Amino acid sequence: MLRLHEYRYHRPARLADALALLREHEDALAIAGGTDLMPNMKHRLFTPRHLVALKGIAELRGIGLADGAGNPVADDSPHARELVIGAGATLTEVSRNPLVRRVFPSLAAAAGKVAAPQIRNSGTMGGNLCLDTRCTYYNQSYFWREALGFCLKKDGEVCHVTKVGRKCVAAHSADTPPVLMTLGASIDLASANGTRTLPVADFFIADGKANTVRRRDELVHRIRIPLPAPGLRTAYRKVRQRNSVDYPLLSIAAAARLTPGSGVESLSLVVSALGAKPRMVSGLDKLAGAPLHEVVDAAAALAFKQCHPLENLIVDPDWRHAMVPVYVRRALEEMAVGA
Ligand SMILES: Cc1cc2nc3c(=O)[nH]c(=O)nc-3n(C[C@H](O)[C@H](O)[C@H](O)COP(=O)(O)OP(=O)(O)OC[C@H]3O[C@@H](n4cnc5c(N)ncnc54)[C@H](O)[C@@H]3O)c2cc1C
Ligand code: SF4
Repeated sequence: MLRLHEYRYHRPARLADALALLREHEDALAIAGGTDLMPNMKHRLFTPRHLVALKGIAELRGIGLADGAGNPVADDSPHARELVIGAGATLTEVSRNPLVRRVFPSLAAAAGKVAAPQIRNSGTMGGNLCLDTRCTYYNQSYFWREALGFCLKKDGEVCHVTKVGRKCVAAHSADTPPVLMTLGASIDLASANGTRTLPVADFFIADGKANTVRRRDELVHRIRIPLPAPGLRTAYRKVRQRNSVDYPLLSIAAAARLTPGSGVESLSLVVSALGAKPRMVSGLDKLAGAPLHEVVDAAAALAFKQCHPLENLIVDPDWRHAMVPVYVRRALEEMAVGA
């Protein structure tokens, strides 16, 4: 049996109190649903002396429309400019929310494909954004890792994937961030010193050791997604070993704005679960103007060229690489139906 270490559990009722606790205790970590953190603590990947529970904080809950400054407005308000999702919203809530399903179906799909129903009932959007990167040599018990001499992400000196170098290439394995990137979403990051807003695309960095720019004393407060102009189509595709419960081995998020008669106005494509950071495929602007079904192969070829899977997950990287264009095609063909 894997036992937890001793720690103190704090249950703040207000965001300000949670932020103060994080500032006060240097070895404190936030816990939301605990579906990622608890297994990691049992593996001794994290041993915080203080846990700050976010579940009781009302300011982190809710999904609704807002004006461009994040102030809530009614669903039929002409001033609605963005959809705001609290970091404490569960994946089940996001996947079932009628507004999310209608306006951003790829986000509802991605949230609905995380793990399994019980985990989605507890797991939150904030936890999904801050999910630790994953690797065959890291997500193991202390005993297992010790037998191998640990690795440089935790307790050791070498990377068993690259064998050389000082960089961890563990995989970003969360389902919703790639979709949020294609939708141009941003996040409000709160700390005891105030709040900063940054695009989800700028939240991630290519370092598997800690792959976000979030400081330890900062919390994701909420996610803000601009309401799209008419003609937006979106899709999310995920490769995993078992459809009932598994992390992605490869994921593809796509969004395109189509204008009747003049084809693709804009197209964005994010490929993830390969390296530490979701990869935004570049060069897609050259495909603008053509009907979507005519650019599928070119977009798939660009994605294939720009992605380079490593042996960080259990499945053969060459196979995962070969699947990139297959799943890009499937996502874009789904969006092209009836266009
Ligand atoms: C069997 C299994 C399968 C899984 N499959 C998938 C999958 O297919 N896809 C997937 O994406 N995930 C998967 N997960 C991981 C996890 O369930 C989800 O990513 C979930 O969204 C994590 O949310 P949580 O609230 O439980 O996070 P927690 O475990 O509470 O926290 C995770 C991390 O985020 C930090 N954190 C949490 N909330 C905030 C916040 N508001 N601000 C700042 N930091 C915060 C915590 O400190 C911790 O470091 C799986 C987990 C399990 C156990
Ligand atoms: S990629 Fe290398 S350093 Fe990172 S977790 Fe895996 S083995 Fe460790």
